[in-house]
Amino acid sequence: MSDEIAVRPSNFIRQIIDKDLQQGVHETIQTRFPPEPNGYLHIGHAKSICLNFGIAQDYNGTCNLRFDDTNPEKEDIDYVNSIMNDVSWLGFNWDGEVRYSSNYFEQLHDYAVELIEKGLAYVDFSDQDTMREMRGTLTQPGINSPYRDTSVAENIELFTKMRAGEFNEGECCLRAKIDMASSFMCMRDPVIYRVRFAHHHQTGDQWCIYPMYDFTHCISDAIENISHSLCTLEFQDNRRLYDWVIDNISIASQPRQYEFSRLNLEYTVLSKRKLIDLVTDHHVSGWDDPRMPTVAGLRRRGYTPASIREFCARIGVTKMDNLVEMSMLEACIRDDLNVNAPRAMAVLDPIKIVIENYPEDQTEILHAPNHPNDESKGTREVPFTRELYIEAEDFRESANKKFKRLVIDKEVRLRNAYFIKANRFEQDAQGNVTTVYCTYDPDTLGKDPADGRKAKGVIHWVSAQHGVPAEIRLYDRLFNVPNPAAEDDYLASLNPDSLVIKQGVVEPSLANLAVGEGVQFERTGYFCRDSEAQNLTFNRTVGLRDTWSEK
Ligand code: ATP
Ligand code: MG
Repeated sequence: MSDEIAVRPSNFIRQIIDKDLQQGVHETIQTRFPPEPNGYLHIGHAKSICLNFGIAQDYNGTCNLRFDDTNPEKEDIDYVNSIMNDVSWLGFNWDGEVRYSSNYFEQLHDYAVELIEKGLAYVDFSDQDTMREMRGTLTQPGINSPYRDTSVAENIELFTKMRAGEFNEGECCLRAKIDMASSFMCMRDPVIYRVRFAHHHQTGDQWCIYPMYDFTHCISDAIENISHSLCTLEFQDNRRLYDWVIDNISIASQPRQYEFSRLNLEYTVLSKRKLIDLVTDHHVSGWDDPRMPTVAGLRRRGYTPASIREFCARIGVTKMDNLVEMSMLEACIRDDLNVNAPRAMAVLDPIKIVIENYPEDQTEILHAPNHPNDESKGTREVPFTRELYIEAEDFRESANKKFKRLVIDKEVRLRNAYFIKANRFEQDAQGNVTTVYCTYDPDTLGKDPADGRKAKGVIHWVSAQHGVPAEIRLYDRLFNVPNPAAEDDYLASLNPDSLVIKQGVVEPSLANLAVGEGVQFERTGYFCRDSEAQNLTFNRTVGLRDTWSEK
């Protein structure tokens, strides 16, 4: 093995940065992550976070966390708090204080006045429908507004009145005066300020005019001396407007925008509007439902920050449209937990085993390794008793050779314990097996018997006397089609089996597992202790193998 440190493959943005540094365009690299606080962060945001914060880290630069909060009606302080929490949890530190675009409302207002003074912005009283019609189409140029040639002095007065609350919502707006015939729709005199009598989570009732995203974002970048403003491809056209604003106001800093493709992930949706609908219409239990692709949901599902960062590194950054396989995300957490999660035994669908030749009042403390190939992880105590639980599916009255579990008159090994042989069984009125009577071989603890007998297989178990009841939630994909967003009605493809709840029993060591910690239930999958439930509850993070791809 070479001891070279693995170098992450570069990407086109890093190449641009390398060149900028080489040519002296920038001396320091400054990025930002600019969420709008109108929802929880999802795995797509994680891609942007890893890109922006990762670049800052690798180039000895800094990355700001800036809330892009120009839309007070849709925003909420709860979202602000959850976003800060999620960014920290992912393992990143923003530079200095958290920033808000609303910190710059006064400066943004002054830059708008500057544009008016230069004859580059005007107050328009056209109603929305008229404005839309006059904007034209991709094949038809727009038509100039009758308000386009109002004098500078009059515009200053009107904008002052807008700010003073003398106009109603929708009565007028401030537009940049650019080019109604531009082939870029965003350049056809875009609205840059509108009237909203809305309470803002940061600025309260101080403002009744709010700047639009395209005007706000570039100026906020410039104020913060951002060198590379990285965003997703839907803003490609808007780059013209970004540059136009920066070029036409008196600000020294010249940030540049670069676009990359959004992450789309199979079997889920990443549009905030759809995620909000899933929550408000109770298709899931909340933003942190373990089936949600949100950072909060993934955390509660048992994903680690490292596994999410690893996923973002594996998918890379390009300009190509993509739909990433869910199995790729799952592989990242499986790889992590395979190495790091301790092992334990849990029975999801218990049936009872009675070992008839084992003393009734005896408890033997066995020692089981916490990890099969990492001795440093130590061992744990597992109590063994006459009555045990095993999985219902691990017993059959009779079976062919492929069934390497417990069968009448045949032997299996109980994991970390003895050989047992099944003698007879009882069932209830519905024909479900309730109890299997067995005998054990005391000479098989940690070794095969001297006579060369081999067990057909190994099954897991939990002591009936010492086991702890637990709710075990089997989570699966939220949708049963790879690209639900492409369906006419995405809700119709919700997977009805995305959550199956089991009342199981787990070995006693698991009662002390810390909330959020991952564990491998041997032979069953990777689980984590749920962070919300009162009682002992485990969420399935991912199965042991990629059964979806096998299907
Ligand atoms: P909205 O429709 O509310 O604008 P949004 O998904 O763009 O939703 P923002 O809060 O504006 O949400 O996103 C913050 C940053 O995260 C932006 O720079 C955005 O480009 C990036 N981002 C959002 N979704 C994805 C995604 N699926 N893949 C990569 N980056 C994303
Ligand atoms: Mg956005």
